[in-house]
Amino acid sequence: MIFRHPSVCPLLVSTIVVTLTLQPAWAKTPVATGTGGAVATISAPASKAAIAILDQGGNAIDAAVAAAATLGVTDPFSCGIGGGGFMVIYLAKDKRVITIDHRETAPASFSPTVFLDQGKPMDFETVVASGMSAGVPGTVRGWDEALTRYGSMSFKQVLAPAVKVATDGFTVSDNFNRLLGINLVKFGKFPATAAIYLKNGKPPVAGSVLRNPDLARAYRELGAGGAKAFYTGKMGRAVIDAVNRPTVAAGASVRRGNMTMADLANYEARLRLPVHSTYRGYDVYGMPLPSSGGVAIAEALNILEGYDLKAMPRDQAEHLYLEASRLAFADRNAYLADPEFVDAPVAGLLSKNYAARRREAIDPTRAALHAPAGDPYPFQNDTSVPLRPAGYKLLSEGAHTTHLTVSDKDGNIVSYTYTIESWGGSGMVVPGYGFLLNNEMTDFDFTGPAPNVPEAGKRPRSSMSPTLAFKDGKPAFSIGSPGGATIITTVLQTIFNYIDLGLPMPQAVDAPRLSERNGMATDIEPGYTTLPAAQALAKRGQRWSAEPEEIGAANALVFNPDGTVTAVSEGWRHGVGSAMAQKAAH
Ligand code: GLU
Repeated sequence: MIFRHPSVCPLLVSTIVVTLTLQPAWAKTPVATGTGGAVATISAPASKAAIAILDQGGNAIDAAVAAAATLGVTDPFSCGIGGGGFMVIYLAKDKRVITIDHRETAPASFSPTVFLDQGKPMDFETVVASGMSAGVPGTVRGWDEALTRYGSMSFKQVLAPAVKVATDGFTVSDNFNRLLGINLVKFGKFPATAAIYLKNGKPPVAGSVLRNPDLARAYRELGAGGAKAFYTGKMGRAVIDAVNRPTVAAGASVRRGNMTMADLANYEARLRLPVHSTYRGYDVYGMPLPSSGGVAIAEALNILEGYDLKAMPRDQAEHLYLEASRLAFADRNAYLADPEFVDAPVAGLLSKNYAARRREAIDPTRAALHAPAGDPYPFQNDTSVPLRPAGYKLLSEGAHTTHLTVSDKDGNIVSYTYTIESWGGSGMVVPGYGFLLNNEMTDFDFTGPAPNVPEAGKRPRSSMSPTLAFKDGKPAFSIGSPGGATIITTVLQTIFNYIDLGLPMPQAVDAPRLSERNGMATDIEPGYTTLPAAQALAKRGQRWSAEPEEIGAANALVFNPDGTVTAVSEGWRHGVGSAMAQKAAH
């Protein structure tokens, strides 16, 4: 098989043609196997922070917060305390999976028309770079719940490694420099952001050291004052001022938000039961609503379970993977939203019988042009007369976030995806505190009727899909990724690669990604169309996006039968990830 990948060096694209089975021969696959705990993140300082906390006797929950806080320093454009996320935790002693939803929430000022101007949807990018797009941040409350209920260390202890990285600085990577370069306009609008991330209006060069003393200060205040310091203190006031009265560069104008101290003080994280489904002998636990990830992945897996994929040629199996994903997305777009506002037919969507009905819509030889939503209500045990979907809608969704996963020596596991939505979120750094505010409110549909319209106190539908899988009652693997709505397909495809194609996890992660979300064409990665696999699928009517882009940045753990753990990060995407085991296997 031939695969070319330009992200390593665009100049080599036309000259490098690598023969390989699934991954480029020059790719480094960060994989670590060992005992004790293990971690996979997209950033080496973050993985090191997790291992340091494990070495100090902390558990997986402590280590996950430490890694996440460090990612807030080294990957500030993907995540941070100005955003929110979803954490799935396995508590080994109780043999229990719980989830913490700390998704950003719409301020009380929101209504279904908040993003309409004279009846028309506002320009998406204008809303992104504004105070209007920021939801009430959930990260600090989520970390607080995780540590207080399931951790063993204090905020101060777990934030210490991140404080050190923010104070001493970290090395700017090529990827950091490149992504900053394509967001200069947004960041240039906000002096507080430019002061930290731009040097004379330009991104800092790769190899230089970047420090963020303001963020170190914010973390120290959290360490001293706990979550209150964020939600009711001076830091909270600074958040409100940044949202409601953004300070902008000369000549720039941005829309103001309307968030109050009461919105902040009232913010709650939610402990939710995970979405549970089964797939070929595995028990799969995912994130429930308001993330659509767990339900959509479970539905697609239920559809795929009806086929003997292992017995098929690979292109036929991949065709079915794409079609199952298309159907799951049709349902996701039609039905799923914040469960505190919308009565989504989750039981129906998760039913194996419903999956069998959906399977009837798949042509094994020909791609569907466009799949309408199905009718899960008869499979719902629900005697009310619910609204049927208004039709198909493909939202414009961002593609930046981060995922990390950690285990500890006692067998606890965390699978955690967290975000500030777009790359760089709203673009607004909270002055004096060094963190960017999210633009999560743009995950709402701007116009209705749709389940996911904005409403006061509502959480926008997410795609984040931190996932844990078990076999025979024992942990088997964890998986998750960033990437907006492509998160769902990246997690689904990696599970398909691992279980159905039988690829070892590093290859399952590194394989070219295909993201079919019931749109006009499947999103693909650079170089994919040159592969024979792509040509075989095209013969079945699959259509490829004309603008290939890197998809996702997955991180996984595999729990091996001999008791070791293998941490797996990206081998070539996002500047290569970082996998570490507490005690390396010899
Ligand atoms: N806002 C997205 C979501 O919640 C995640 C952002 C991303 O990964 O790009 O689904």
